[in-house]
Amino acid sequence: MEPLTAAGEVVGICRDLLRIDTSNTGDPRTTVGERVAAEYVAAQLSDAGIESVLHESAPKRANLVARIPGADRSRGALLVHGHLDVVPADASEWSVDPFSGEEKDGYLWGRGAIDMKDFDAMMLAVVRDWQRNGVVPPRDIVLAFTADEEAGMEYGSQFLVREHADLFEGCTEAIGEVGGFSYTINDDLRLYLVETAEKGIDWLRLHAKGRPGHGSFVHDDNAVTALAEAVAAVGRHKFPMTITPTVRSFLEQVCDAIGIEFDPAEPELAIAKLGPIANLIGATVRNTANPTRLEAGYKDNVIPGRASATIDCRTLPGQAESFLAELRSVIGPDIEIEHLQQQAALETGFDGDLVAAMSAALRAEDPGARAVPYMLSGGTDAKAFTTLGIRCFGFAPLKLPADLNFSALFHGVDERVPVEGLQFGARVLDRFLRSS
Ligand SMILES: [Zn+2]
Repeated sequence: MEPLTAAGEVVGICRDLLRIDTSNTGDPRTTVGERVAAEYVAAQLSDAGIESVLHESAPKRANLVARIPGADRSRGALLVHGHLDVVPADASEWSVDPFSGEEKDGYLWGRGAIDMKDFDAMMLAVVRDWQRNGVVPPRDIVLAFTADEEAGMEYGSQFLVREHADLFEGCTEAIGEVGGFSYTINDDLRLYLVETAEKGIDWLRLHAKGRPGHGSFVHDDNAVTALAEAVAAVGRHKFPMTITPTVRSFLEQVCDAIGIEFDPAEPELAIAKLGPIANLIGATVRNTANPTRLEAGYKDNVIPGRASATIDCRTLPGQAESFLAELRSVIGPDIEIEHLQQQAALETGFDGDLVAAMSAALRAEDPGARAVPYMLSGGTDAKAFTTLGIRCFGFAPLKLPADLNFSALFHGVDERVPVEGLQFGARVLDRFLRSS
């Protein structure tokens, strides 16, 4: 029998996790499975002699944290975090049962396969392997498995940071999701996108007020009309392009890799050449504001006094305020703005020992690997952990087939992870954590 390794164990653990339905509907009454998954993780850790503590933010909304002591306890700890919840899946749209953890065509299929039970499984497989072989990491490693990442993090990382900040004492750096995956340039060159920045979130509601009245009269102060004008103006508005240091560095590296000149005046020319990830990168050169919900009225022949719309706004690092000033000029002075949720953007440099360790670990397993920094247009648990002063990266290593449309799988139908890529990820994570 072959000796048990992290790469050997990671697929089975990932399958187990995929079979636990942890659908986060955004409504605590219908969200399921987080506690079951956290208990599974706790058992896997305890089986390897690692003690963990479960923290519930609400009934069944479970978060699990463990600390593995390192060789040099005077060094800052490294936080490794993954969320256990997933977005819901409509089984009728899938070609397999989204919670069966089925393995076929070289992939492990299921909701959460890349977002992000793959990385949760890598974390577990690696530390279990260490315990079997008596490996002590160079510094303390804090493992955090969170709830509620998919619906605002209130019951997950935000709760941990607010109520249990002591668990992260001494953590100086962190790695988590949406980074470390490969983007194939050719057979001999793969860029691995390490997330060093995230756009900020500003979900807001616009309120228009007018004079209520009868739908049959002449009426010049209609809240629905005022709101519709504001929503249309926001939806059509294109915010100016700003190239942040992270995006500039990414585009320079991509242009170098594909052999074209980077023109800072026309970054969208380079972005257009990125194929399936053009969408991902295109959203990181400007602020965006997308109308998502509308609400007004209660009867066909009554003009309501109020109307409201929700706008999903994403802002570049350092631009939260200038964005709002611009938004105000677009919607005019009479529309009221209510902030539903605001989370600051983050951005860190692509330098230092930790980044060097990422590059080295990737190259050791893939000689054609080149690590590059990029900005994520969405948000992750890093938003919460960065508020503790922790330097956050997205580094969940995954080697992907050249023809896989990876970004479409996030929250998508037939989400799946390549089995070999998952094993590759476990080996890279093992090397990285041993050398970080
Ligand atoms: Zn995720």
